[in-house]
Amino acid sequence: MAQDLPVRHNILMMKRRDWITGTAALAAQAAVAQTGGGKNVVIASANGLRACAAAAEILKRGGDTLDAVIAGVNINEEDPEDNSVGYGGLPNEEGVVELDASVMHGPTRRAGSVASIQGVKTPSKVAKLVMEQSDHVMLVGEGAGRYARAYGFRQENLLTEKSRLAWLVWKQSQRDGGGHNNWTDGLDAPAGKATGKPSALRRAFPEAGEELLAWAAEMARRPPAGTINCLGRNAKGEISGVTTTSGLAWKIPGRVGDSPIIGAGLFVDPDVGGAGSTGRGEENIRVAGAHTIVENMRHGMSPKDACLDCLKRISRNYGDDRERLGKFDIKFYALSKDGVFGSASLWNGSMRQGKLAPAQFAVNDGGKSRLEDCAFLLERKP
Ligand code: ASP
Repeated sequence: MAQDLPVRHNILMMKRRDWITGTAALAAQAAVAQTGGGKNVVIASANGLRACAAAAEILKRGGDTLDAVIAGVNINEEDPEDNSVGYGGLPNEEGVVELDASVMHGPTRRAGSVASIQGVKTPSKVAKLVMEQSDHVMLVGEGAGRYARAYGFRQENLLTEKSRLAWLVWKQSQRDGGGHNNWTDGLDAPAGKATGKPSALRRAFPEAGEELLAWAAEMARRPPAGTINCLGRNAKGEISGVTTTSGLAWKIPGRVGDSPIIGAGLFVDPDVGGAGSTGRGEENIRVAGAHTIVENMRHGMSPKDACLDCLKRISRNYGDDRERLGKFDIKFYALSKDGVFGSASLWNGSMRQGKLAPAQFAVNDGGKSRLEDCAFLLERKP
């Protein structure tokens, strides 16, 4: 395997295969693995700066590792501006927000999860309830919702006006072979009122400003990915994790991603460490990513190398075909029980307005949360 070779040979080999370039490999090697020693360490996906800070604060006060990371991700779940998690998450193809979440508590070696749950802002809390109060590990759909309501969770409409707008714009953007769509003005529309154009969008959504319409059009054109994974370890070496998401935008109702799958979107083994993921869940499920990473760490790999190895398995599933791999992205995050952490992304970053936004993850190991660059398997040039 590449990581067993001397560094120079390793880099040459990766270059030949179009893996990470030499400079990037050195940067990747230097970037991530750090030791937390006896410290509290919290890591998360890049949308988790606030989550890491909140979780670190709870760990500082001696709180439980799972309570800490759940309190962290609750910030994203309750934030209507985070359109990939909880309240305000982008809905399924019928305009209904369906959420997935999982938790693992290292100290008691337990797990809980919910999938396709509707109407509850904080599925991570319901996953914890399943773990603690039921004799099951996973509840889905209507059953998960009923279970949450039995414990007093309020049934709420999770579709914000912003997400509803994005969904309608997506509905209007779909076309049959003849360019027709029943959700736009029909054949009887006055001449010149062609739908799908910015002017038609403005007419259909007069209240929405230009910026919001441009955002919604972008969400329809390029359905975003997003989720939060958060892993926390305290000074005693206890570790827990959580992953929570609204899943892929415009998904088929009932679609379940990797986030609630124990061993894919999240895995914690208190003897080794924990791992989690964000990005296209279908790819992760096929390699049981988080479990694979924890097993890699058990066999001696650093968290960063364990994540890279898992990405290579995903790449292998596509015959290492860059073109097909270019159609999605996925990131892994790993934290060992000793507080060493790392993260790796399939791609070095994503293109935003012609610029490459680097793949990053959030860390708090005392003081302020910060973003660090992920290691990566493949390089996308601006
Ligand atoms: N992993 C999530 C899912 O597949 C989505 C994401 O992270 O973007 O449901």
